[in-house]
Amino acid sequence: MHRIVVLGGGTGGTLAANRLRRAYSGSEAAISVVDQDDRHVYQPGLLFVPFGLAHLEDLVRPRGRQLHQGIEYLVDPIDRVQLADRAVHLASGRELPYDVLVVATGATLAPEETEGLTGEGWMERVFTFYDLEGAEALAKRLEWFDAGRLVVNVVEMPIKCPVAPLEFCFLADWFFRERGVRDRVSLTFVTPLDGAFTKPVASSRLGGMLAERGIELVTEFNTGEVDGAGGRLVSYDEREVTFDLAVVVPAHNGAAYVTRSPGLGDELGFVPTDEHTLRSKAAPEVFALGDAAAVPTSKAGSVTHFEGEILVENVRRFLAGLTPDAFYDGHANCFIETGFSKAMLIDFNYDTEPLPGRFPSSVGLPLMKETHLNHLGKLLFQWFYWHTLLPGRDIPGVHSAMPERGKDRRAETKVETSEEVAP
Ligand SMILES: Cc1cc2nc3c(=O)[nH]c(=O)nc-3n(C[C@H](O)[C@H](O)[C@H](O)COP(=O)(O)OP(=O)(O)OC[C@H]3O[C@@H](n4cnc5c(N)ncnc54)[C@H](O)[C@@H]3O)c2cc1C
Repeated sequence: MHRIVVLGGGTGGTLAANRLRRAYSGSEAAISVVDQDDRHVYQPGLLFVPFGLAHLEDLVRPRGRQLHQGIEYLVDPIDRVQLADRAVHLASGRELPYDVLVVATGATLAPEETEGLTGEGWMERVFTFYDLEGAEALAKRLEWFDAGRLVVNVVEMPIKCPVAPLEFCFLADWFFRERGVRDRVSLTFVTPLDGAFTKPVASSRLGGMLAERGIELVTEFNTGEVDGAGGRLVSYDEREVTFDLAVVVPAHNGAAYVTRSPGLGDELGFVPTDEHTLRSKAAPEVFALGDAAAVPTSKAGSVTHFEGEILVENVRRFLAGLTPDAFYDGHANCFIETGFSKAMLIDFNYDTEPLPGRFPSSVGLPLMKETHLNHLGKLLFQWFYWHTLLPGRDIPGVHSAMPERGKDRRAETKVETSEEVAP
């Protein structure tokens, strides 16, 4: 019988374990999932909490209940992985031997790594919406914030869902307009990137959307200090942005146990992984997906979902003695909430940047366009998350490989041409 241990019972660990359980009978494989708590959070919903559009009780479910019958679920922090012994050591002292290890322990927030961030003013005028407690505290603060300078700051990349801070800006614009105080609130987005987003077509479109809404964009700002008492962000090159209220996306690392596990991770605690097969570079029997994996695509639930399909196929091939050559193309997609009950959908992979057109084929949701239909898609996604994605079912018409049909490649040519002529 194969022994498969899955580290992490979040998005990736749950969907991978459920897919593996379907692939193997109880007598073919023993599957264990380990997590440090029993609180599964639908993280995309955190965006809506500060604006009173979602509540914590809608976003949290017990982890164990998302797993199919026949999967052992252990609530026990991981202490370390001993690759040489093929064993996981848990904080309780228990040791789990494995034939295949799946690492899905995500990314952790590291606010303490930025000088001043968790000092004076933290959770009073400096907040994050990237965890439950922060999102809830920010909701209380926004209820009575009706004048002043609000800045949204990404400290450094990589972060989970790189569009979420932009969505926060768009929703803040909507929120203050609805309350009739937009002219008294200034909004600024402060990013270490050289534009609103990483990819040129989307970056120029999203940058334009910030400008249309009167949201100031400050680029190439590497935050060295957050001075909560003085209301200042200070960059390493000594630029300053002042604020009355700061919404900060802190630095992200991999899980701490990864750095305690010799040979498993890089210096940030992410797991170097083959970007196509999802097999880790640490050992042939170790695979990784989701935010924990160091691969060159966004840290997003959609990515985790598409990776899951390929990872499970490759685990099966590996255990059958075949070459694990199922191929992940870096497919990612994301509904970007833009306020006023509209959203924009982007779809891309390692080689193709977000382009206009339709998804998943020439008839489907509009890409790179703000529409009410996409907003409904964003809201409906929560249902798909609990009922389709986590149980490891396929979403009809949506597959791991990025669809080509429906994409307007002329937009790509336009960017290439303008880049060629740029000085
Ligand atoms: C505000 C916000 C908005 C987002 N919006 C979107 C969106 O619109 N679309 C989208 O696709 N994605 C979005 N995401 C990103 C998405 O939620 C993540 O990319 C996805 O959940 C990653 O799944 P994962 O399994 O890698 O990590 P997670 O789901 O975070 O799971 C990791 C698990 O590992 C466990 N763990 C860590 N360390 C240990 C340890 N030492 N011992 C035991 N267990 C441990 C954790 O408890 C956790 O359960 C958003 C994220 C945030 C924060």
